[in-house]
Amino acid sequence: MHKVIKLLTIDYPKFNFIESDSYYWSPQKNTIHYGRLTKEPKSLWPLFHEVGHANLGHRRFNSDFELLTLEMDAWDKAKIIASLYGVKIDDDHIQDCLDTYRDWLYRRSTCPFCTNSSLQTKIDTYSCFNCNNTWHVSASRKCRTYRKKSKSPSLKSSL
Ligand SMILES: [Zn+2]
Ligand SMILES: [Zn+2]
Repeated sequence: MHKVIKLLTIDYPKFNFIESDSYYWSPQKNTIHYGRLTKEPKSLWPLFHEVGHANLGHRRFNSDFELLTLEMDAWDKAKIIASLYGVKIDDDHIQDCLDTYRDWLYRRSTCPFCTNSSLQTKIDTYSCFNCNNTWHVSASRKCRTYRKKSKSPSLKSSL
């Protein structure tokens, strides 16, 4: 077991840590899933990000904008927690991750009919106040801290 996972298990007994094919926090199962950890401190960054979500008790969000806010908060927390384990998270990496959310948010909120910037009226619905069209989007997206560019939003509800 990776040294940091060993320590996290001791420091956060209320959370489960499970090695998976990706990094995400499951509030339903109180479980932090993490990908392959290597000797590179970099591989720990998304892990600390998920610990950040877990630590802040992130559960659900009602809008895309709120999701972006949760992502920013999770990174702020991740930086603090990581420093306690002697890991420094690169700020450029954080900005890259948040940019993928900003790009995604921009794509979802742009009206497909008139390209006006529009308002989210429900978790899965946007409305354009310029041309009065309404369109549906997938309910949420999965946090993808381990990838720079995400082409299509995922339907999974985990953070
Ligand atoms: Zn429009
Ligand atoms: Zn996240």
